[in-house]
Amino acid sequence: MQVLASYVCGAWFEGKGNAHVLVNPATEEPLAQASTEGLDHAAALSFARERGGPPLRALTFAERGDLLRAMSRVIHTNRDGLLDLAMKNGGGTRSDAKFDVDGASGTLAYYADLGKELGPRKLLLDGETVQLSRGPRFVGQHVLLPRRGVAVHINAFNFPGWGLGEKVACAVLAGMPVVVKPATSTAFVAFRIAELIVEAKILPEGAFSIITGPAGTLVEHLQGEDVLSFTGGGSTAATLRAIAPVVRDSVRVNVEADSLNSAILGADAEPGSDTYDAFLRDVTRDITQKTGQKCTAIRRVFAPRAVAPQVLEDLGARLSEFVVGDPSAERVTMGPLATAQQLRDVRAGIERLAAESKLVVGDGPLEPLGVPRGKGYFVLPTLFAQTDAARAKAVHEHEVFGPVASVLSYDAAADVVAAVRRGGGGLVASIYSDDRRAIGDIALGIASAHGRVVVVSAKIADQMPGPGTVLPQSIHGGPGRAGGGEELGGVRGLSFYSQRSALQGDRAILEAVCEKG
Ligand code: NAP
Repeated sequence: MQVLASYVCGAWFEGKGNAHVLVNPATEEPLAQASTEGLDHAAALSFARERGGPPLRALTFAERGDLLRAMSRVIHTNRDGLLDLAMKNGGGTRSDAKFDVDGASGTLAYYADLGKELGPRKLLLDGETVQLSRGPRFVGQHVLLPRRGVAVHINAFNFPGWGLGEKVACAVLAGMPVVVKPATSTAFVAFRIAELIVEAKILPEGAFSIITGPAGTLVEHLQGEDVLSFTGGGSTAATLRAIAPVVRDSVRVNVEADSLNSAILGADAEPGSDTYDAFLRDVTRDITQKTGQKCTAIRRVFAPRAVAPQVLEDLGARLSEFVVGDPSAERVTMGPLATAQQLRDVRAGIERLAAESKLVVGDGPLEPLGVPRGKGYFVLPTLFAQTDAARAKAVHEHEVFGPVASVLSYDAAADVVAAVRRGGGGLVASIYSDDRRAIGDIALGIASAHGRVVVVSAKIADQMPGPGTVLPQSIHGGPGRAGGGEELGGVRGLSFYSQRSALQGDRAILEAVCEKG
């Protein structure tokens, strides 16, 4: 069986014993194995800090952008092989696989362009100079410089490609070396991307490492100028945040965690209208794309009470058309969940929702296409109706990380704002409406609880990729339950990897210093 090694200290490392087996979640066939037993995490981090940091910091933004472009190209050139691996190890359809792999190359390409725009500089100015005394000479200028540590990236199982690409793009452009740790169960795509990057010798030695397998003591060796960017479950995030050196040395931590994302159908969006159709399209896509294993997927669907029955009927009809099975079979439109644990968690979540709402779709016989009998981690697209949004509890508290959503009825804009906010902070909410006043009330009522609010109206409905797509130009993250983190957002994405410092002194001297940087 293929061994997925780690790349640390400038060499490939294969762990001894206790290997974790990666499987095809449609058939449960073993694909590869990975172990990190015996890996010296402290040495891996020191090597990245000491060997990878200085050469990266010596480069300008434009030169770092060139590195990202080369990474993007190597992924794109090897796209077919990566898509194949993503389907086999992740369980998604080809279209799901593209979402991950093209997401990685696309985000790297976007940040490559940004590097070119930032040009031949090594520091970022943050705002204008400000006068600090009565005379004009004594001024302050905020600057952003790369932190002289290592950026550790711990990723969730659902986006091994994009998760790697979006985090590495910001870190490398900011000038920090990276140690990437994909989730073990679906690490194949990340491992292959790492192999391609290493083989092509794109980055300076030490600037890129990958730990393929369990993280072990990795986080315990972090130091004050290091950063930890984590994507995954809220409880894992809480454990990592409490690790002694992280607390003691104020290691900067970014968390992208759970989210009960909402889609809100406006009272004006009548069935049959373009806006209503866009709403059906986006909700259906989000429930089924990547088998619902998307941090941004719509979990709560809010519809005006009068139209809710129609919404349930229309969504129910669309969801019932999906063909569940092995994504390598031609007719299959939704694959399995990624792991056996995921299947257990999703089934438990469905039971929890069923205890307080009515099951509308998802209760039929499950005979996945092209799969040996009894094999694979499958669930049907599942839709619940929740008529009492005010009393419902689980739907606002428990993220079922699979193809599952609930439709909730509402009466007035103020009610829907309050109900959406019960999610405790989310990554994204979308509003489907053309009524400017209602959009204003809802969008501004929920925006402080979300990293992103997407307004879908008739005139742009066909130009939008849907709220589940994270675009590098806008931030990704959200408050509260969503982890309180923030990634991407163009140049904003570099802040996490940079130290902001206020230079104070003589205007002419500071201008010369900043010009030099
Ligand atoms: P998870 O179980 O929390 O694992 C996430 C990552 O943390 C994996 O790489 C895992 O490695 C690692 N990990 C676990 N325990 C660790 C420890 N003690 N020290 C260091 N690393 C550790 O989450 P998941 O099941 O992969 O992902 C599902 C969750 O992620 C969902 O709740 C979803 O909402 C969330 N998510 C959020 C976003 C976002 O952007 N907000 C995106 C995607 C997913 P191993 O695999 O080796 O255990």
